[in-house]
Amino acid sequence: MEKKVLPFSKEKLDEIVQTYPTPFHIYDEKGIKEYAEYFTGSFSWNSGFKEYFAVKALPNPYIMKILHEKGFGADCSSLAELVLAEKVGMSGDEIMFTSNDTPAEEYQKAIELGAIINLDDISHIDYIEKHVGIPELVCFRYNPGALKGGNAIIGNPEESKYGFTREQLFEGYKKLKEKGVKRFGIHTMVASNELDADYFVETADIIFDTIVDIHKELGIKFEFANLGGGIGIPYKREHKPVDMQRVSAGIKDLYEKYIAANGLAPMKIFFESGRAITGPFGYLVARVLHFKETYKKYVGLDASMHNLMRPAMYKAYHHISVPGKEEQPHNMLYDVTGSLCENNDKFAINRLLPEIEVDDLVVIHDTGAHGHSMGFNYNGKLRSAELLLRENGEVVQIRRAETLDDYFATLDFKGLDSFK
Ligand SMILES: *Cc1c(COP(=O)(O)O)cnc(C)c1O
Repeated sequence: MEKKVLPFSKEKLDEIVQTYPTPFHIYDEKGIKEYAEYFTGSFSWNSGFKEYFAVKALPNPYIMKILHEKGFGADCSSLAELVLAEKVGMSGDEIMFTSNDTPAEEYQKAIELGAIINLDDISHIDYIEKHVGIPELVCFRYNPGALKGGNAIIGNPEESKYGFTREQLFEGYKKLKEKGVKRFGIHTMVASNELDADYFVETADIIFDTIVDIHKELGIKFEFANLGGGIGIPYKREHKPVDMQRVSAGIKDLYEKYIAANGLAPMKIFFESGRAITGPFGYLVARVLHFKETYKKYVGLDASMHNLMRPAMYKAYHHISVPGKEEQPHNMLYDVTGSLCENNDKFAINRLLPEIEVDDLVVIHDTGAHGHSMGFNYNGKLRSAELLLRENGEVVQIRRAETLDDYFATLDFKGLDSFK
């Protein structure tokens, strides 16, 4: 079994918490950079390969800037995410706009930035034409329906609200062609937190096959195929990371079989992964506030599910370390909780850990994606700071913690005086 190691020592952590009070998320720059190089390097055979980091996973401009320097673009799905990409200095085909149920002003902003527009529905061809105009390059999101088996988080494609059916793809590209569009892309996203490398190869098989069929019927060539995100990470010690070399080799074979063999090369391969890129390189650090013993033993932290809601929302496993106690016997059975008035506010249920004392620091692993970003203010909880552990060992704050003033900023208390 893999050991879950931390990129900082107990001494280093004790030093960090002197400056930055718990709870906070801390991200490991070195880990992120090395993985980014590995990911892109795995596809060196495909000229024009690009990974568009799914901004929703970790919408912090400092992280996006690190990734941009590694050649990544941004996959955005809202106005705020587009603005973040803009602030980081991205434009044009460095931005992929994969949205759904999209308001016109978001298409407007995406087009203003020159982003690649990925339409989620056939009715959006008329919608975007009416409100903003049809862009030069258009991509459709394909939902392969029953062709693709389901996955626990994203569910069965036929039950999914996203994308075009196969028939709609043909109809949609035909319509674009009639409207004079000359540049085309295709996209699909059918996985979430998937650890099986072959799943992504199978997705490429479905997409490439579809590309050939569309070409035969409509005579159009695709500039790119975006295979989406959904690459899983080893949350549990017995899990193995997805072997991207294997994914790449499988996709390369299919590329030759379908794309090259039909004269459709060159065609760029895109991904829009979030979780795999930053997930394993983030840690939620919290302090034990209380120990409680009733029918069970409870370790109460100063963090709550508003800092990390995956355990409550998906019953997701997140590994927990107690720095300095890694080598002690893990023979105490605890529920590790936050303070929300919701009984699902638990980071772990029946978890074997070393004996924990009040004031201990605990580290919750793999919070670098869909962690801080899924935070919320329910129960008047404030979102935490985000820190970055630089490659040189320095720690910098890349987002401050919210204050009560932030929380109350949308209320006008003065209005209360004249309100009867
Ligand atoms: C959420 C999402 C992603 C990223 O998913 P990960 O599981 O973080 O890789 C990519 N594309 C779209 C359209 C998404 O909604």
